[in-house]
Amino acid sequence: MTELIYYQDQFKKEFDAKILKIDGNRIILDKTIFIPQTNTEPGDFGKINNMKIAGSKKDGKHLWHIFQKQIPFQEGDSAKLELDWHKRLKGMRFHSALHLFAGPFDKTFAKRPVAGAVKGNQAQLIFKEEISDEIIDKSLHQANKDIETGLEIKSYWDKKKKGFRWTQVGDYIPIPDGGLHVRNTKEIGKINLVSKKVEQGKQKLVISLE
Ligand SMILES: [Zn+2]
Repeated sequence: MTELIYYQDQFKKEFDAKILKIDGNRIILDKTIFIPQTNTEPGDFGKINNMKIAGSKKDGKHLWHIFQKQIPFQEGDSAKLELDWHKRLKGMRFHSALHLFAGPFDKTFAKRPVAGAVKGNQAQLIFKEEISDEIIDKSLHQANKDIETGLEIKSYWDKKKKGFRWTQVGDYIPIPDGGLHVRNTKEIGKINLVSKKVEQGKQKLVISLE
């Protein structure tokens, strides 16, 4: 199993690890700073031993780092990891923005989103029902107020369930998730609502960040 350094320190940009296993163009490391992609987020990019990775991906229990080209490494080799920090920071800001934006909907209006996703320079929240313009406006206003005020963002492991992680923004309800976050809502930047659509009865809100 790979030790997940990104959960210990989400600001680690470089790290020395070891290659445990090679399978075609993909490798397993003993430790990593690259968070894998999920169905809703792109995950990390960067370089290993100066070769660009196409990403990292979980396959069963294993976390694979994938290359586009044939790799010259061997099992047991050391691996110098360099994170694409620009992409990581953008991902953390969007991911944190989704947490925060969800907060007022839940706390003030008992409307909890059912999904969130980060895509390129936008992110989206999905609700299982249509949400009124008034609730959307008030929640957005509150979220941007929270960004100005600055709320702490904390992630922690569940005390009983192994490998289960929670994230809490300010005193909004904690949400189970495995993502990475900025430390304070001030680091998110202002949230802009790009579009609000209802698709098959579900409310979809698309946001961008300033
Ligand atoms: Zn999260």
